[in-house]
Amino acid sequence: MALDFVYSQPVKIYFGEGTFAKLGEILDELGLQRCVIACGRHFAPTAQAMMEQDARITAVFGGVEQNPQLSGVIETTRLARETKADAVIGVGGGSSIDTAKFAAAIALGDGEALEYYRGEKPFPAERLTIIAVPTTAGTGSEVTQVSVVSHNTEKRTINNPVFMPKVAIVDPVLSSTVPPRTTMNTGLDAMAHALEGYWSKNHQPISDLMAIEAVRLILANLETAYTDGANMEARANMAYASLLGGLSFALPKTAACHACSYPLSEDYHLPHGEACAFTLDSFVRINADERLELLCRRVGLAGTEELAQKIAELKKLASLRSRLSDLGEVDLDKLAHDCAVHGLMANNPVKMDEAALRAMFEKLA
Ligand SMILES: [Zn+2]
Repeated sequence: MALDFVYSQPVKIYFGEGTFAKLGEILDELGLQRCVIACGRHFAPTAQAMMEQDARITAVFGGVEQNPQLSGVIETTRLARETKADAVIGVGGGSSIDTAKFAAAIALGDGEALEYYRGEKPFPAERLTIIAVPTTAGTGSEVTQVSVVSHNTEKRTINNPVFMPKVAIVDPVLSSTVPPRTTMNTGLDAMAHALEGYWSKNHQPISDLMAIEAVRLILANLETAYTDGANMEARANMAYASLLGGLSFALPKTAACHACSYPLSEDYHLPHGEACAFTLDSFVRINADERLELLCRRVGLAGTEELAQKIAELKKLASLRSRLSDLGEVDLDKLAHDCAVHGLMANNPVKMDEAALRAMFEKLA
């Protein structure tokens, strides 16, 4: 097949152990004077200390929740407007980075956050600089233009160029204290990003290369990062794999596993990574084809069945929920319907209608 693609990756990436300590130099380089940090409760004391030491950190919103709420975006935006910030720095998992992205995108506008959230008003032409600092190895949000934010029970995934960070600072040291279960959830989210970017209908050659390397690194390091969190080599390899996973789906977008993850998170309260992993081995089997066999051979596996088994073993190791019986009372009709109508489902290489999804979930009874 003739090569024919458009590839673009606009984020400047700083990667390495101890890189976060260079934040001051990076702010100098970008000429930034007033920055707001958005982070979760764990990082908030560190962010406050940073504010005391560096006058360029003008405010901290330290209340980002696991499924980030629009209220957190509103508060971060208020701080950015009040301090006339020129940048928003998101430090944390995808939640903090997505909050920072949204606040930076709307801070210079005159509309209400809810108007932008609901698409009733276009995003302002001007925005603040976004700096993304992931502390988990999983979401890849530091290199994508996606922001996932909830408003009460409504959850929206907004894909817009205004959310693209200018800089990503990936420091594996920041992930060294992530607890084992979160390490597994986020690691399998990264695996889903790589595999879905690879088998997406919009896959393309440069993204494919990064997907293959991400899968190889995750298979070689996730178990160690889970069982021995202080192992910096495994943590660094997972941080790199997560970054590659993000890059590998940034253009092709994700597909069926992520489509199914939304009802699994909303109705059965699975964290994002666990929700993506729930159907990941099923879709490895469903999407098995020559291309996926090639990926498996390149990462040292015999074939797609071994890949599906490896994923199932990782889920079992961390006791992740992987059967319908683990979810309590399940409304299978609603689950199959909600998965089928999700926009990302159309990106799966094998057409999955409601009946096919129902059959897949029945096998997980
Ligand atoms: Zn994901």
